[in-house]
Order: sequence, then C-alpha cells, then structure tokens
Amino acid sequence: MRAIIGNSVVELVVGDITNEESDAIVNAANSQLAGGGGVDGAIHRAAGPSVMEQTRQRYPEGCPTGEAVITDAGRLKAKYIIHTVGPIWRGGREGEEDYLRAAYRNSLQLAVEYGCKSVAFPAISTGVYGYPLDLASEVALTEIRQFLFNLSDAILVRCVLFNEGTLGAYSRVLEQWARDDAGA
Ligand code: ADP
Repeated sequence: MRAIIGNSVVELVVGDITNEESDAIVNAANSQLAGGGGVDGAIHRAAGPSVMEQTRQRYPEGCPTGEAVITDAGRLKAKYIIHTVGPIWRGGREGEEDYLRAAYRNSLQLAVEYGCKSVAFPAISTGVYGYPLDLASEVALTEIRQFLFNLSDAILVRCVLFNEGTLGAYSRVLEQWARDDAGA
C-alpha cells in the first residue's frame, strides 16, 4: 500500500528492515545506544560491530528520547543507520506522543540532511517499549505526512513492518485518510 504526500511517497511493506536497500534505515534504539533485542539487536547483528564502535566513539553520552543520531551502515546495503529513541509507554500522559513524533521528525530531518532519497522505518516503540500499536501507527504516519507536506524534495519513506498485524494497523490509518479526503 502506498500514499502520495506532497512530492514524496510513503509505502507500507511487511519485511525485515535489515534487508532494506533504502539509503537510510532507522533503528529503534535505547537511550544508551547499547544495543538490545528486537529490531535494534537484529540491525547490529546484521551490520556488524563497526556500527556499535561508531556510536560509542561519536555518541558516548547516548541519545535522549525523541532525538536521533547517524552512523554508517556497516555490512548492510543501506548507506546509513539513523538511531532514534522512541518513548517507553507509561500510560500516555508522560509526553509519549510528543516523543514519538519527535523521533520520526528528527530521523527524517537527519535523512534529508545526509541527502537520503529513501528511508525505512520500523514501528518504533511498539515492541518491548509497549506503545499501543493503533496509536503508534497513527502518530507515525501523521508525523511522516506532516514532514513530507513541508518538504520540497521528493523522498521515499518505507514503513517496513515486521508482521501482518502491524501492516494492518498502518493500513487502517491510510484507509481512513483516503475516506476523509473523499468526503472532504
Ligand atoms: P521498541 O523498544 O522501540 O519497542 P522493538 O525492537 O521491541 O523496539 O520493536 C519495534 C518494532 O520493530 C516491533 O513492531 C517489532 O515487531 C519490529 N521488529 C523487530 N525486528 C524487526 C526487523 N528485523 N525488521 C523490522 N521490524 C522489526
């Protein structure tokens, strides 16, 4: 499924983000940039140890929630890995939505700064960090849409979702927008 937003395109696909050939892939990291399970572990395993060496040297303080840092992509096909830190879900009144929006926005900003024409995102915070999937899907796509509306360049944003359930949640958001546009 895809949507055209401004000059750009958003695509929803099911897959493993480590196989992506986008210019940049986004990692759902933790604030210590220490690696871990889930998509973070998969990315570091596939990219090799040079990526962790870079984060240690260049970002010894780690990365605060909602912000993003960049390294090369080691052995991956992508050129860059953008490491961003989504919020841990604590019930929704601790600024989680703002932090999740910021994680998407700052990652897109870095991708554009580094000249990327394509960038792949996982569903940040929806695994171990426990952000409810339906809410996270809406926040992710809303922030991506807002960023792309304001961008004059044309880029491809691929949401690389690990299973059909996640694809379903994202697809429902795009379908709702299509209905809203048709009714407007
Ligand atoms: P967080 O700590 O931000 O919640 P997780 O890695 O636990 O991060 O989960 C984020 C999302 O990434 C989940 O939807 C999970 O299913 C998905 N995921 C896990 N491994 C991969 C992978 N190799 N490619 C794409 N998505 C993945």
